[in-house]
Amino acid sequence: MNKIVIGEQIVKSFGEGNEMRNVLDGVSVEIDEGEFVSVMGPSGSGKSTLMFALSGTDGINSGKVIFDNTDLSTINEENVSDIRRSKMGFVFQQPTMLKNLNILDNIILPAMHTNRKNTENIMTKARALMKRVGISDLAERDITQVSGGQLQRAGICRALMNNPKIIFGDEPTGALNSKSAQEIMDLFSEINSEGTAIMLVTHDAKVAARTDRIMFMHDGKIVSEIKLSRFDGTDIDGRVERIAEKMLEIDI
Ligand code: ADP
Ligand code: MG
Repeated sequence: MNKIVIGEQIVKSFGEGNEMRNVLDGVSVEIDEGEFVSVMGPSGSGKSTLMFALSGTDGINSGKVIFDNTDLSTINEENVSDIRRSKMGFVFQQPTMLKNLNILDNIILPAMHTNRKNTENIMTKARALMKRVGISDLAERDITQVSGGQLQRAGICRALMNNPKIIFGDEPTGALNSKSAQEIMDLFSEINSEGTAIMLVTHDAKVAARTDRIMFMHDGKIVSEIKLSRFDGTDIDGRVERIAEKMLEIDI
């Protein structure tokens, strides 16, 4: 299986002198193309930092990140940004959207930035994605006129505009009620089943339980992981229980 991203012995530190601390303390991780993985662990354990390192958003102090067969340390920042824009999608807890633009314009904004010439294609693609995630009617709405779940759907549309090879989601369901969270997870499952790899950071065992593999972080290290069968819509309780047992076992 081809790897979409490989992290080798990543060290990332913040602070200086005596205050210097390894927030990522030698993390190695591999994600297969098309894989659906999640990262759990206490607040402050380094989950977001790991995501920013693997996506080339932030540099690292030592180790290596190989994204889609390119060692990110061997190319300049601009090329890393190009890879990020063309091959990765990002979804955050609160979608960062511009208040003075409507939903549709927010969705197309990053794509317009990379490919201004193809306005018509971009619009068509955005409308198709909005239809697909069930927010067709909201195109002209202001971002303050939709629910949290709808806004997150718009965020997912934006992340999918460039047909990314992987979506990085940092607590994408963290601000949603459990029903909306499960609906967003249905959407991620669907997107993943079409071949896009997904890496989610989550606190919610019910969210993680729907992924293929769960990595557990503690103090800047991946301390354990469990591999589950592909989620087929059944036995969510059994899967949640396996996660809970593992967390008990490794005491996080
Ligand atoms: P998590 O996502 O698991 O909650 P983070 O990766 O956000 O954890 O942060 C891990 C640790 O790194 C925290 O202690 C946080 O305070 C620290 N940290 C993260 N970003 C920075 C930064 N830019 N400067 C200094 N410390 C940071
Ligand atoms: Mg975080």
